[in-house]
Amino acid sequence: MPSSHNHSVTSDLIDIVFEKVQEIPDPRSQKGRSSNISIADFFMYGLGVFHNKNASLLTCDDKRDQPTIKENAKSLYHVEHIPCDTYLRSTIDLVQTKHIRPLFLACLAYCQRRGKLKQFQYFKEGYLAPIDGTQTFTSKSISCKNCCTKNADNPKKTTIYYHQLSTICLVKPGLKTVIPLMPEPITQQKDASKNDCEVRALERILEDLAREHYHLKLVLGLDGLYSKGPTLKLIRSYGHHFIAVAKDTDHKALLESIDDLDRKGQVRRFTYTDKRGHRHSFRYVNGAPLNKSHPEFIVNYVDYVETDPDGKVKYFNSWVTNLPIHNHMCCMKIMRGGRARWLIENETFNTLKNLGYSLEHNFGHGEDNLSSNLACLMFLAFLIDQIVELSCPLFNEALTANKRKKTLWEKQRNFFEIFVVSSWALFMKGLILQGAPEPKAKGKQVKPGEQPKRKMISIRSLFPDTA
Ligand SMILES: [Zn+2]
Repeated sequence: MPSSHNHSVTSDLIDIVFEKVQEIPDPRSQKGRSSNISIADFFMYGLGVFHNKNASLLTCDDKRDQPTIKENAKSLYHVEHIPCDTYLRSTIDLVQTKHIRPLFLACLAYCQRRGKLKQFQYFKEGYLAPIDGTQTFTSKSISCKNCCTKNADNPKKTTIYYHQLSTICLVKPGLKTVIPLMPEPITQQKDASKNDCEVRALERILEDLAREHYHLKLVLGLDGLYSKGPTLKLIRSYGHHFIAVAKDTDHKALLESIDDLDRKGQVRRFTYTDKRGHRHSFRYVNGAPLNKSHPEFIVNYVDYVETDPDGKVKYFNSWVTNLPIHNHMCCMKIMRGGRARWLIENETFNTLKNLGYSLEHNFGHGEDNLSSNLACLMFLAFLIDQIVELSCPLFNEALTANKRKKTLWEKQRNFFEIFVVSSWALFMKGLILQGAPEPKAKGKQVKPGEQPKRKMISIRSLFPDTA
């Protein structure tokens, strides 16, 4: 049965992004501007390539003159004129990456207006937001002026060029959906003698967040490389909180202080065993100096060990935080918040690299901003998909009907190429119909070993304009 829902959140988000791309300044020379392809066309088409989970720009280029694709690019992504892949790359390369930020902001504001961010509330102090970096490009031969460089570990010390992205997502333990904020490219910075790095990228993220989301307070989930005095002080100065991994090798003075506090009876311990027989053991204390260099910087501390029924250690970690630890419940909550960093590794990077989006594929490097801009557009497609999954009954019906996201993405790509569709709502209904299970035949039993007859579902009845 066709869905009773007639509203598509995808349509809302594509419209919002389309409105915002109009504000991207045109970096082309006067000669370039004389073409009838607008900056909005380049960005909306680029977004469409990633939203449809295409594996390369070249395969899209081969099909761009097909009438069905032209029609759908217009009706679904507002693309008036599809550029060739070379023109798309050379133009997007010219646009500064910061101009993509408003597209993320507009999608997040939509999510907020619809009350969907409430699902992510975990700490009263702010949204839990792990940060992690990922490499998006590496090469010995291809480079641009924004590449970071390092020497290969071989006798010739060949130069390796690379780009990374520092990614920050709103997450909640137990919730698979994540909300990525605009990623921060880790690239060669102007006037910098050293390579850019994750800590410097965090400084820029904090500055941008303060300007764009003044009221958005976060509990940042950080790995050990951030658990240094200056970085944690900076986070606190912006009014955010942190849960940062504190490895014993990096924090000898802190651990000595914890031992002192333990001797004074101030460190609290508790253990519980879950239904699987796994033991969870905690130690925590409030008010320990972070290290000798910053004795005035007082943090709270949690360590945690999980062991299986045979006593084998399954997980161990320790964190410093500026969240108060009032009791055992607080301590467990902080542990779960600290462990939620895997959501960025698993639900974000793994999905983007292996489940349809092809994050590590080189869609084009360019001379200036192309590499970062395409990676950010891919994250934008991912953000749209995540918000749609959170809030669109029509999409979730299509996902249920097709069982797996990978199947759904394949069908979405095929539909886009085969059927002329005038709206996202109709598009989703087509995906629901094509994935729908066969209705049971009335009064007729299928004998063992016999294949049930497949009933043809008339997709063409939904899309009478099909070419
Ligand atoms: Zn580069």
